[in-house]
Amino acid sequence: MSTSSIQDSLAERFLRYSAISSQSNASATTVPTSEGQWELARLLKSELEDAGAEEIHLSETCVLTAKIPSTLPQGRSAPAIGFCTHLDTVDVNLSPDVRARVIDYHSGDVCLNESEGVWLRENDHPEISRYAGERILVADGTSVLGADDKAGVASVMEAAVRLLEDPTAPRGDVYLSFVPDEEIGLRGVRTMDLARFPVQYAYTLDSCELGEVVESTFNAASATIDIVGVTAHPMNSKGNMVNPILIAHDIIAQFDRHETPEHTEGRESYIWVNEIEGNQSTARVGISIRDHDLDGYEEKKQRIHDIAARVLKRHPRAKVTVEIDDVYGNIEDAKTEENAAATDNIVKAMAELGIDPINLSMRGGTDGSWLSRQGIFTPNFFTGAHNFHSVFEFLPLNAFEKSFEMVNTLIRRAAQS
Ligand SMILES: [Zn+2]
Repeated sequence: MSTSSIQDSLAERFLRYSAISSQSNASATTVPTSEGQWELARLLKSELEDAGAEEIHLSETCVLTAKIPSTLPQGRSAPAIGFCTHLDTVDVNLSPDVRARVIDYHSGDVCLNESEGVWLRENDHPEISRYAGERILVADGTSVLGADDKAGVASVMEAAVRLLEDPTAPRGDVYLSFVPDEEIGLRGVRTMDLARFPVQYAYTLDSCELGEVVESTFNAASATIDIVGVTAHPMNSKGNMVNPILIAHDIIAQFDRHETPEHTEGRESYIWVNEIEGNQSTARVGISIRDHDLDGYEEKKQRIHDIAARVLKRHPRAKVTVEIDDVYGNIEDAKTEENAAATDNIVKAMAELGIDPINLSMRGGTDGSWLSRQGIFTPNFFTGAHNFHSVFEFLPLNAFEKSFEMVNTLIRRAAQS
């Protein structure tokens, strides 16, 4: 199969998936949060059925899982591995409808939308010049391209269909999962029935440019502090009223003003007070905790309990309750001797495909961060695109093809281990 026909096939698949509007909607309370995600999941399901995948299941929360069965002879086994990609595209107040196209990029600026005057300028995005002479997927300047994560979906589907056509290529069991609502707090993956994804380790394809590998993400928790004061008429409230808003203020004042998102970068951690509401009788403070280091993470959770207890001592007639929920974990904390092959094989696959790895510590999380917290080590690698979440998102077909080749190579290497 020539490289251009693989690229044609990937591009055609991407255009088909991206034509389905599937933005997630943070204000919806159901999972999935939008109808378009159902539409895409049903399309993938029928394509997997036609290709002959097994154990195909679409859950009531729109999590699609399937199995590509092992071709190894009896007596030989390989670890079952998985791939997880997401069905939704991000809502950043752009058009929900994606009108993508392939262009031949020569050099200089690219006109994305003539009537709206939207240009991808080389001055603003100098990385585009690396792709002179290549074919590139772009949107029309009114929406994201949605390579995040439909390039990941397309690479996995293309690999699945081709593998199922070829029973001679050695592979172990490969499980696929397509989950909704990643962009709004990993809501979809949390509803996955892990019995349908019985893998030793997995991968997400949910990172940007060629070579990116993410093995390290934040540990993340959200904390809610609820405060109940004592109301009284101000005319006779001396020694009587307990103002919950001032207690909330006392609590917030105890945090380090330099340990915040706006003062940290790289692997530095933070505590982010990002919600406050209050009235005469109650107040509530919402806090996000983010730390790559598990000890630091646990210390921060404890610190919030300690601060609340200390402030409560000064206001013994108030009630203060603290609730802290783990949201997702650092991928690397799930790495063990048994599953370290997941990243060893990324390194080997990249060497084989001539890709220079770019190792990133992500100041965020992926579906893999949640899966890793459940014990399934799930590193993340590139889709090949640039400028996720922007109208300037673009995807060079050469890099897209390398992402697809990573899927094939990782499956083949897992069968050799
Ligand atoms: Zn994504």
